[in-house]
Amino acid sequence: MYDGDIASVLISEQQIKDKVTELAKQVDEDYHQAGGDLLLVGVLKGAVMFMTDFARALPQPAQLEFMAVSSYGSSTSSSGVVRILKDLDRDIANRHVLIVEDIIDSGLTLSWLLKNLSSRNPASLEVCTLLRKPDAVQVDVPVKYVGFDIPNEFVVGYGLDYAERYRDLPYIGTLDPKVYTTGV
Ligand code: 5GP
Ligand code: MG
Ligand code: MG
Repeated sequence: MYDGDIASVLISEQQIKDKVTELAKQVDEDYHQAGGDLLLVGVLKGAVMFMTDFARALPQPAQLEFMAVSSYGSSTSSSGVVRILKDLDRDIANRHVLIVEDIIDSGLTLSWLLKNLSSRNPASLEVCTLLRKPDAVQVDVPVKYVGFDIPNEFVVGYGLDYAERYRDLPYIGTLDPKVYTTGV
């Protein structure tokens, strides 16, 4: 699949699986007292693979909601100006909400999302992200669950795209520079 476009595999399919199981176990322990009232909010489209695998790995029941946001900026960096493309279908007041994210880079998208969702008065609000980049530490966003801290490189696969491609890869990898320069 995508022959020659992937320069290297950063995180393998098995490494992702193991991490998803580990995170789900941790979340399960922490939310035990929530009494089966956990609401996962996945951010489309990047988090969709992580969200569905995570929900299935989670020992306790959880409800699934999705939100789609677009941060203005180029295809490889975000500006922090966020627009809601699809809002939640339900009220989250008094619910234990866990935001499920694919990746935190500048943290601007997440910081906006946290403000937006906390204004809806959830019982609790935490973040679980599969990937985090170094710049994220500069922004003061509390992220309780992190799968992998990765280097400052543009990655694709397992939900993450470049120009809407590569989301369907089962692993996370870096792109061959020729992909950017020829602009497939
Ligand atoms: P932030 O607002 O934290 O800078 O960016 C978050 C969003 O930018 C992610 O949800 C994702 O859509 C995009 N993004 C940031 N880094 C990467 C990356 O390495 N690869 C891909 N495909 N998207 C990224
Ligand atoms: Mg995202
Ligand atoms: Mg994208």
